[in-house]
Amino acid sequence: MIAIYPGSFDPITLGHLDIIERGCRLFDQVIVVVFRNPNKNPLFSIDQRISQIRQSAQHLPNLQVDSFDGLTVTYAQMHQAKVLLRGLRAVSDFEMELQMAHTNKTLFADIETVFLATSTEHSFLSSSVVKEIAKFGGRIEHLVPYPVAQEIYKCYAKTPTSNAAPTTAAPTAMPPAVPPTVPPSVPPAMATPMADRLIDLPLTETLCD
Ligand code: ADP
Repeated sequence: MIAIYPGSFDPITLGHLDIIERGCRLFDQVIVVVFRNPNKNPLFSIDQRISQIRQSAQHLPNLQVDSFDGLTVTYAQMHQAKVLLRGLRAVSDFEMELQMAHTNKTLFADIETVFLATSTEHSFLSSSVVKEIAKFGGRIEHLVPYPVAQEIYKCYAKTPTSNAAPTTAAPTAMPPAVPPTVPPSVPPAMATPMADRLIDLPLTETLCD
């Protein structure tokens, strides 16, 4: 049986790789299909993402990597795939994933969506989190395949404004008794401490090529 694993993979993370490896054990053939997501600003081009996935998954003989601009079910029909493989991290993923599974079923009755629960150690991991950590100077080798981490570091090194490491310098003056007012032009996420920026900070990267 052929399964396809669709997604943006911008970039592939160890969470994705875990789902790919487990999928390859379950199905005769798995095709990872890289889709352009019109709602997301990509960091890597489709070709770069394909090559990152190929390099990271070269130990899996029953894996293919491809890209497609169109509906997932159209790709599945074209390749006689009857299974859509998806990963579930948390309840927050569930609603959207269930909606997609139902919608895809209305478009192609023979398709089955199979969800694999994420491994615990990857349950917090997303491509966006990885990019955000790297953008603010953090290490990411434990989150993505090593060569992918190097490419991400290179990307952010090209854009000096986005590569600033968090400052550790001690404050030179006593903090004011009243917290400073944040100018209205600063989005709330930017006014919060570093750790809080991991959530919901819009990513505005341009393509890294
Ligand atoms: P999409 O734009 O379709 O969400 P992603 O590349 O973000 O594309 O994700 C592709 C699939 O991989 C989705 O099913 C997503 O839930 C799953 N996924 C993403 N990160 C993880 C993870 N850390 N563990 C398990 N599954 C994951």
